[in-house]
Amino acid sequence: MSEQAAVCQSCAMPLVKKEDHGTEKDGSLSSVYCTYCYRNGEFVNPGATLEEIAEHGAAMISQMYEMPLDNARMFMTGQLRTLKRWSGKIVPTCQSCGMPIFSGEEAGTEKDGTESSSYCVHCYQKGEFTEPDLTHEEMIQKGVPVIARKFGLKPEKAEEMVRTFTSALSRWS
Ligand SMILES: [Zn+2]
Ligand SMILES: [Zn+2]
Repeated sequence: MSEQAAVCQSCAMPLVKKEDHGTEKDGSLSSVYCTYCYRNGEFVNPGATLEEIAEHGAAMISQMYEMPLDNARMFMTGQLRTLKRWSGKIVPTCQSCGMPIFSGEEAGTEKDGTESSSYCVHCYQKGEFTEPDLTHEEMIQKGVPVIARKFGLKPEKAEEMVRTFTSALSRWS
């Protein structure tokens, strides 16, 4: 049981409470999948495709943040691509800015030059944050115009979204 995930590795739903987790064959809780996706050691819908799950998630996100459906679909597809069920591994998320770290070039570096497993290259170099004094609030304010533009959101909805997605990151929690 070494793998632990903050979001379901099939549908990207946050795994917060015990009830959110799916179950293994022996009844123990899955550490990587949610109860809607995975029960008794099997996927509830084994034939589901990334597109189908993205469609479902996009409808929710679109409503929640008043996001145009096409943009919500693009957002969900991007999220799902980082998950174990679809990429074959858990792609780490930068614990400062939330960006997925797909490759070594995107990973930050430790003092000794090795890759950071927690932070991206924009946030963390040679064992230090590139902006050490940045607060969570400043990070949110930096993200809002980017997200608002990218996904066609009102600023207040973009702020809600950035706040939700960054508050789970370990640099800020
Ligand atoms: Zn799920
Ligand atoms: Zn980062």
